[in-house]
Amino acid sequence: MGRVLLAAPRGFCAGVERAITTVEEALDRFGPPVYVRKQIVHNTSVIHDLTGRGAVFVDELDEVPDGALVVFSAHGVAPAVKEEARLRGLATIDATCPLVTKVHKEAVRMAEAGYEIVLIGHAEHEEVEGTVGEAPGRIHVVDPARTEDLTADGSAPVAWLSQTTLAVDETMRAVEELRGRFPALADPPSDDICYASQNRQEAVTSIASRCDLVIVVGSANSSNSRRLVEVAVNAGAGAAYLIDRACDADERWLAGVRTVGVSSGASVPEGLVEELLGWLAARGYADVEPVTLTEETLTFSLPPELRSPREP
Ligand code: SF4
Repeated sequence: MGRVLLAAPRGFCAGVERAITTVEEALDRFGPPVYVRKQIVHNTSVIHDLTGRGAVFVDELDEVPDGALVVFSAHGVAPAVKEEARLRGLATIDATCPLVTKVHKEAVRMAEAGYEIVLIGHAEHEEVEGTVGEAPGRIHVVDPARTEDLTADGSAPVAWLSQTTLAVDETMRAVEELRGRFPALADPPSDDICYASQNRQEAVTSIASRCDLVIVVGSANSSNSRRLVEVAVNAGAGAAYLIDRACDADERWLAGVRTVGVSSGASVPEGLVEELLGWLAARGYADVEPVTLTEETLTFSLPPELRSPREP
């Protein structure tokens, strides 16, 4: 009846693979419970699975008992949180994605060079909270869709950075608006939107105009997944929805639909995409055409605490 265009790359990125493996490896080596500050990655199924294996997810360090091991999530933490852990004598493993760490280092360098920093991103997101903590008082967070809210007056030189998981087009528009206000606006040494976010957005863009409907698998608190839905609509999809699991899909979305695009956010296990493909196949959409824009080969090594061979 209908067909499915299956976008690639989709699903796990190198930073998410590393973060999940970090918790799994910590559980294997040190035994449960392993505390994790915040969700290790923003995916409900991943959190559920790791909880079943003995991970304990907490919001703040005061929920971690003395002497326990705590893992910092892929989204990164402010230096003040690391210092709090040190003062408490907690054992820590930092699973911050190296591409988030790169933005932290850029923030420190820009602040040391005397810049006021405009961080384009979503203020409530953990990644943004962590980056802001690298240069408190020097970073102004501005939503990419609301640059007019920025209150910096430009009396000091201004530079911009961005959250790693934003939509590329919207971010570049925001930068141009900022440049209109601050003509000497300094750029970061390289684009902060990570390769995984860019690749998944480009893959969705490449199929969207041929799709009456795009379904993105991802959790509601996943920034990169939410951006994929926006990108799909902006690139011409008839409609686009974000679902955590196939059971959240609604048959009414399929009315009059010939072509369904499918993708998934960077924190989504492939099994959840397969579940959705099964759901679609059962409703007449069994013809699946993979559309692969690029192959990803990047991997990150585990945090140093987990790199040594295990004791026999
Ligand atoms: Fe790292 Fe990008 Fe993956 Fe986030 S989405 S964990 S920044 S590679």
